[in-house]
Amino acid sequence: MSDKVTVPLLDLKAQFATIKDEVMAVVEEVFDSQYFILGPNVVKCEELIAEYCRCKHAVGVSSGSDALLIALMAEDVGPGDEVISTPYTFFATAGAIARLGAKPVFVDIEADTYNIDPSKIEEKITDKTKAIIPVDLYGQCAEIAAIAKIAEKHGIPVIEDAAQAIGAEENGQRAGSTVQYGCFSFFPSKNLGAAGDGGVVITQDDDLAERLRVLRMHGSKPKYYHKFVGGNFRLDALQAAVVSVKLAHLDDWTAGRQSNADRYRRLFGDAGLVSDGTVGLPQVAPNRRHIYNQFVIRVPKRDELRAYLGENNVATEIYYPVPLHLQECFAYLGHKPGDFPESEKAAVETLALPIYPELSDQQAARVVECIAEFMSKE
Ligand SMILES: *Cc1c(COP(=O)(O)O)cnc(C)c1O
Repeated sequence: MSDKVTVPLLDLKAQFATIKDEVMAVVEEVFDSQYFILGPNVVKCEELIAEYCRCKHAVGVSSGSDALLIALMAEDVGPGDEVISTPYTFFATAGAIARLGAKPVFVDIEADTYNIDPSKIEEKITDKTKAIIPVDLYGQCAEIAAIAKIAEKHGIPVIEDAAQAIGAEENGQRAGSTVQYGCFSFFPSKNLGAAGDGGVVITQDDDLAERLRVLRMHGSKPKYYHKFVGGNFRLDALQAAVVSVKLAHLDDWTAGRQSNADRYRRLFGDAGLVSDGTVGLPQVAPNRRHIYNQFVIRVPKRDELRAYLGENNVATEIYYPVPLHLQECFAYLGHKPGDFPESEKAAVETLALPIYPELSDQQAARVVECIAEFMSKE
């Protein structure tokens, strides 16, 4: 095969080329209206997202990070409180907890799905626990039903960090729709990305939805009267309009990602890299719809492999190289290496391969070919 084939991690330009006319038409409408914050485009986007997620309410916010923050604020989380989550996630999950002065309490992940291990949650619940934040990592739902059961027993809300998992399902139910809050991100590189920052919180609860709507406007209701302190967590009309256009394509893009995942599984199998245990493929837990925000493999000599792929114009990424309990900013929590062994192991062994919908047969084959080449040299 030609070593001229280059494989980016993501090709947003290729995707934009297929929807440019639709997107630019709504962008022009927004500019013509000069209505830039909240307003009809945001309302429409919220309705579409709620329908897509099979949830009663969707509240557009300024980012996925702010979706987590506002959900915690809606639960009055603050100093002295504890919030349970995983150390193997994007920083924002624990960052939101810490920003409110609460303590992130970590629970290790399961080795096969990289999601929080429900069997280890209950032992961490105290009378200070104000919420549990499971993360649907890489586009696969955590064991939300099991986690919700534990949470309910203790009267604690669940805030599902579904920033990587719009449209993912557990037991036929959409990510975020079965718990108190489902938080999503429209960061441009996510499966459903805006033209800037954006996010949404979904909920089935009328009162929580109303509270979120007030919180995102500085707690103001009516205007200029504040019963509590919120923030500026509003979604832009421009982002909402772009997301509304792109949402209509999401199922096609997801199907593309899923067929790329199948293709990788075939190619790695054919190369003999799975049966000999060299490459650990993503495991799909029972009753899940995995939407492959990422396709993450486990390999020996991960960093050398990544460097080799880079030299061969195959882009990859590490999500995430340092588990959160070992981040400098959380040193005050007093954790040490060995506290969360599965998270630490994943941080050194995992590698995300290009899985974007527009990836060609030739590009996927090139990725696997390069990995096989590297492994044969070892
Ligand atoms: C992307 C992401 C976020 C944050 O979303 P932003 O829109 O970038 O603020 C939070 N949690 C997880 C798991 C993410 O992947």
